[in-house]
Formats: sequence, structure tokens, C-alpha cells
Amino acid sequence: MKSKILQKIIDEDKEFLFQNYGDRLPVSFIKGEDSYLYDQDNKKYIDLFSGIAVSNLGYSNNSFKNALKKQIDNLIHTSNWYLNEEQIEAAKLLSELSFKGKTLFVNSGTEANEAAIKLARRYGLSKDEKRYEIISFNNSFHGRTTGSMAATAQKKIHEGFGPIAKGFKYLPFNDLESFENEIANNKNVTAVITELIQGESGINIADTKFIQKISELCKKNDILFIIDEVQTGIGRTGKPFAFEHYRIEPDIITLAKGLAGGIPVGAIHAKSEISNYFTPGTHGTTFGGNHLAMAGIVAVLTEIKKDSFLKNIEDVHNQIFKQFTEIKNKSNLIKEIRGLGLHIGIELTIPCAEIVKKALEKRVIINCAAGNVIRIMPPLSISPEIAKEGIKIIEKILLNEEN
Ligand code: PLP
Repeated sequence: MKSKILQKIIDEDKEFLFQNYGDRLPVSFIKGEDSYLYDQDNKKYIDLFSGIAVSNLGYSNNSFKNALKKQIDNLIHTSNWYLNEEQIEAAKLLSELSFKGKTLFVNSGTEANEAAIKLARRYGLSKDEKRYEIISFNNSFHGRTTGSMAATAQKKIHEGFGPIAKGFKYLPFNDLESFENEIANNKNVTAVITELIQGESGINIADTKFIQKISELCKKNDILFIIDEVQTGIGRTGKPFAFEHYRIEPDIITLAKGLAGGIPVGAIHAKSEISNYFTPGTHGTTFGGNHLAMAGIVAVLTEIKKDSFLKNIEDVHNQIFKQFTEIKNKSNLIKEIRGLGLHIGIELTIPCAEIVKKALEKRVIINCAAGNVIRIMPPLSISPEIAKEGIKIIEKILLNEEN
């Protein structure tokens, strides 16, 4: 039985909001604490999703909260007409944690990728009038604005939106031969963009050899290698950035989601010589890099830098893998357990939407990707104990032992 409060929220959602998200899950959260969320009736849930890999510090990190409160008291916004010390501080931290370069701040993941696409085109077109093609991979997800949507190699994302922006070439993911063929025969490529773990498509991990060879061929052919770290970045995979697992150095990374722990922000970080292709007046945004978002980034990256923070991710990863391996041994519902750090996919032999709903009823928040992959992405600060309790509840659901 839905409470009266919940029913009113559901009715008003339908009356006043676009219905592009379909029927949302029947819960409206009002408060967060540690790795728990509380709903409209003040019931407590274990959060194993962190708002799509955003609330990386959980809901009770005092340094983060105090930094935001202080910034709100001081100043929220001025615009990019003026110097901004908070932007400099955030960019310094990004260089320190990724590679030495320069940063441009925007407001979301799709905007970060739009910026990367434009920058790559400026780079290629400055060398040859035909060099503007960008390679991306099947089942990728890079965002919903027109450029990032075109980079997203999924028909269902393009459908009904008319002519899709030209200049993108889609290749199979993890297929080195097709990539090598394309590079050997196409001289118009200016960049390659990829996720290292395709999150929206069900936690598909890029092969190390595939990525290392792309990196090598990009260098050899003066092609930019753009890694979309919107979902995998900021500690999600157990290292500050996922590209570190592959021992490569990209030319450009794009960031958003967990970058400021829930304050909307995005960023493109590029090698300095590449950043120079955005000459004055070629790109910009009103909100990008505002003081509040920058305070969020500095507080988040200060936490991510700590060895103890990264160690916790490893501990919780091991805990979750151990539990799911035990469940897999007891049930044929689990096909595969995969992922890095706290970016984990549990591929089922059945659809997972119903499992997500049942978990919500039992007050554990998980997500379903690609129809049959349970996506587990808790706050990176979650304790092994809370994670354990959450997975135990999922175990009961999977083994049909709920009551
Ligand atoms: N790139 C990746 C890898 C993503 O997972 C997403 C969002 O899920 C985006 C880009 C788009 O980010 P945003 O929703 O902030 O525009």
C-alpha cells in the first residue's frame, strides 16, 4: 500500500513534469546520511547506486558539506569574464591526479563530450580540411545532446531525432582488427572516443590490449585519444581515473558525475598543447566553473587523493565480489560478475527490472542496465559492513528467500 504522501507525489509528477523518464520508481528521497537514503515516509534505504555514480562521498562527509556551506556564504557565481581562483585550484588537483594539462569546466557529462568533439575537430581541421571524423564504439554512451548523441553508437538513442550529426564512425568494441583496418584505410580520423567500462550498456570492460593498441596507433597517426571518464572517473574504479588501469596516457579525458559529489559540473582535461586549439572565443559556458561547483570539486578530489579512501574501495569491492561469487555458486541466475572498484555489473540469466523493484521494497537501491545486468555503484565511502548487509538482502531476493 502506497502512503497518501507518496500517491500525491506520483500524481503530481504525472501532472507537472515531462514524462521522458517513464514511470519513475515509486519513492521520493528526502534525506541522506552515511550511505543511507530516507524516503518521504522517513524509511531508511541502503544506497548501492549513489545517484548513478555521483554521490561518491556518501551523505555525511563534513569536509565536503562545510566547504559547500562556506562557498555559498562567500560567493556562488560570477561568470567566466573574471579570473577564478577556485577553478585554478580544482584544475591543479585534476592535473596532479590524472596527467599534466589544462582544464575547461562545463556543467555535465554530455557537455564535456561536446567540448571534446569540438576540440578534436578544431585539431584535425587545422591540419587537413577532411580530418574531422571521430571513431566511437558500438554500445557506447556519451550523452544526449546532438554531438554526444551522434558519438553514442546506439540506434535506440538516435531514433526519432532526424539527421544525426555527421563525422562519426562506429566500430565494434574490443575488436582490434576492425580498428586497425579502419586506421590503415581512413586518413580523415582526428580522434577516437571511448569509455573504458561501458556503464550504461551493462558494465562491459575494454580489453587492455585493445586500449593499449589504440593508444599506440593514435600516437603514430597523430589522432587524439579521448577517454570518456564521466562514469568511471573520480575513484569509481579504485584508481582516481580508469585509464590508469591500462597504463596509457590519453590526450583528453572528459569528466562529470562524481566530480563535485552531486553539484552539477563537468570538465574536459587535455594536454596543454591540445587545449590551445580552443583559441579565445571558440568555446564557453555561463555556469561552467562557477565558484560553488569548484568548491565541490576541490573537496571531492582532496578526499579521493587519500590512500585510505582508495583502500576502502578495494575492501568493499572484494567484499561484494566474494558475496556474489557465493550466490553464483548457489544459483544459476548469475551468469557473470564483472567490474573494477565499485563499478560492478552482475549479469543475470533473467531480466533485472523486477529484481530492482523488489530490492527497493526491501530498501536496497540498485539499478538495472542493458535489461539483465544489475549495476552496483555505491558511494565510494560505503563501509564493507553496510555493503554486506545490502548484498545479503539482494541474495535473499535472488534465491527467493525474501520472507
Ligand atoms: N558519458 C558517460 C560514460 C556516461 O555514463 C554519461 C551519463 O550516464 C554521460 C557521458 C552523459 O553525462 P550527463 O548525463 O551528465 O550529460
